[in-house]
Amino acid sequence: MLRGPAQAATRAAASPDPSTSMPDRPVVTRIAPSPTGMMHIGTARTALFNWLYARHTGGKFLLRIEDTDRERSTAEAVQVIFDGLEWLGLQPDAEPVFQFSRADRHRQVVDELLARGAAYRDYMTPEELEAEREAARAEGRVVRSPWRDRSPNDTPDRPFVVRLKTPRDGETLVDDKVKGLVRFQNQNLDDLILLRTDGTPTYNLAVVVDDHDMDVTHVIRGDDHLNNAARQTLIYQGLGWEVPAWAHLPLIHGPDGAKLSKRHGAQAVSEFADMGYLPEAMRNYLAKLGWGHGDDEIFSDDQAVHWFDVADVVSAPARLDWDKLNHLNNHYIREADASRLADLLTPILESREWTLGSRDRTVLERTIPLVREGARTLLELADAVVFVLKRRPLHLPEKGRAMLTDEVQARLGRLRDDLAPAGDWSPHALEERIRAFAEREGVGIGKFGPALRMVLGGGAPAPDLASTLVSLGRDESLGRLDDALSQLR
Ligand code: GLU
Repeated sequence: MLRGPAQAATRAAASPDPSTSMPDRPVVTRIAPSPTGMMHIGTARTALFNWLYARHTGGKFLLRIEDTDRERSTAEAVQVIFDGLEWLGLQPDAEPVFQFSRADRHRQVVDELLARGAAYRDYMTPEELEAEREAARAEGRVVRSPWRDRSPNDTPDRPFVVRLKTPRDGETLVDDKVKGLVRFQNQNLDDLILLRTDGTPTYNLAVVVDDHDMDVTHVIRGDDHLNNAARQTLIYQGLGWEVPAWAHLPLIHGPDGAKLSKRHGAQAVSEFADMGYLPEAMRNYLAKLGWGHGDDEIFSDDQAVHWFDVADVVSAPARLDWDKLNHLNNHYIREADASRLADLLTPILESREWTLGSRDRTVLERTIPLVREGARTLLELADAVVFVLKRRPLHLPEKGRAMLTDEVQARLGRLRDDLAPAGDWSPHALEERIRAFAEREGVGIGKFGPALRMVLGGGAPAPDLASTLVSLGRDESLGRLDDALSQLR
């Protein structure tokens, strides 16, 4: 099913409907990040869309590490990408392909292009190239090499680059699923270099060869690569290879509409993880950056997979919206399993110098459902659980001690004796008990509630009284009360 250059161009020109450019092979998508030491949120969104589209079509989602920049491509920088994808829950369907390891194959394809007459060796010296550059600039045209039309047998003994023979006229069409049909005038495209003088393959060549060899059917990536799509199309055509379907995604902008940068806050996937966002919230949120399903704000992975079509991605840049992300994260925190949240909180709490014993684990799991209502991030959830982890006797802040007047102490003493034998230590029963106690005392709960909460939480944020008592458990609650009352006596 290989399609020749002429056919490809005619097909696109005759039917600009992007849906017709779907290759009729099983769908294979990929992401091809360059290891830079961080995984940008834009790369995460690209990964998600590729993953969703592969899942939606029953195809495969692949990973290629574009590690040709040997200085930046350290093992740690590569690991950042693996970790980012794992955290996001977007596992590729095969082992990653490392681009640098394929340099021989890239060179072999350059030989093929030379043999087909679709590329040529260019022996221009640096001085000649500089002069040609200047002439091209003055005449408002692209650089041209005289070697394009020389006989291939003319092979002087000096360094050369290999260039693609770009057609001089006509146009190259990029039939993009997001951008629509984009036309490039060939006269504005130079004969791009495929192989440098040192024999290393260039970026555009490597991408084409790797995508072809990985059977990639859909190239879904950031729209900063739209111009490369034209150049890559010409390489495919030079080789007589089938051109994949293109989908160039709009960039992610900051809340103010400017290109996302450091001043907008987090940009790396790991930063979002460190700030306490859940991967499922991130997936839901990123899916909404440039794509959506009607007005649906919250949807599951299964729903997104079912609904997603890359052709529905909008072409306007998407804006990062922290309020929306926080809202979604709060939703998923409220939905999540308490024991999973306890796992996720553990390292956060440990980084704040809390040592968690085995009793704390049970207590944490009991507490999380009672305090998570307002937590927008795991960091906020951690703030909300520390009251339960404090060790007796609690240090009461000065302001709190002032609340414990003789009258309040006496009342808390009576409350303590009332709570001690309670048969049912559930939020509802305790709420009732406290209400009944207040009634018997002839005062509103406001007369002793704040002091009780302070005694139980040591001044740390704590939920409503009944939930605080349930979180702590009976023994710990009574113990904290006893400590406070005896300290003051
Ligand atoms: N390595 C490129 C980048 O990180 C992506 C190339 C592609 O997706 O074709 O921007």
